[in-house]
Amino acid sequence: MSDPLEQNYSRICEEVRKAAEGAGRDPASVRLLAVSKKVPAERLRVLWGMGHRLFGENRVQEARAKIPEMPPGGEWHFIGGLQTNKAKEAVEWFDVVESVDRLELAQELQKRAEMAGKNLRVFVEVNVGGEAAKHGAKPEEAENLLAALNGMSRLEVRGLMAIPPFREDPAEARPFFRRLREIRDRLEQSLGAGLPELSMGMSQDFAVAIAEGATLVRIGTALFGARSG
Ligand SMILES: *Cc1c(COP(=O)(O)O)cnc(C)c1O
Repeated sequence: MSDPLEQNYSRICEEVRKAAEGAGRDPASVRLLAVSKKVPAERLRVLWGMGHRLFGENRVQEARAKIPEMPPGGEWHFIGGLQTNKAKEAVEWFDVVESVDRLELAQELQKRAEMAGKNLRVFVEVNVGGEAAKHGAKPEEAENLLAALNGMSRLEVRGLMAIPPFREDPAEARPFFRRLREIRDRLEQSLGAGLPELSMGMSQDFAVAIAEGATLVRIGTALFGARSG
């Protein structure tokens, strides 16, 4: 294992496992999403060779060039802000859209998935920090959005996703992760429907997110190194 990417991958898988065990959770209940934005397919194939299949991209344009360069059978998650006019291509290229944050987008994804004869897994992105500049439904809007999604035949709601406000100290991200979990628990009760997935935690704070219940951690920099540009 001379490639640092291979070393990073092994180390992070180990750290994810340890964080899960430390929280008294089954390590198999936490999956690693390799955030491959700005990383060429050639590097992703190194992870593929190690058996990794789960990748996250935040731009449709980049993904539609990159995904065809990868072997078939990967699981591709869209994790960026999605313009409604890109819904058609998102449906075409992605297995999961984690960033559904408004009714208009949900309706367009449903329509495009119906036209393509596909089913799409989705997460509702929640703006847990209440930041004006961030995407994500307001916590108080999430219930109506989820209720509408439950009536959309082509969309399968899997859970919630959040990008908390940036904090130098990962410990300060903990209240935001906890808030997302509490919102999830409340919504499961009020909607009477399961929301098994919590996508939260990135390179610097994934261990804290796992302690608060993350089932999917989205990791870029710690795997691939700093992104340029
Ligand atoms: C870039 C990105 C990540 C990964 O961030 P790192 O700090 O590089 O691990 C996770 N989630 C989203 C939505 C991103 O855009």
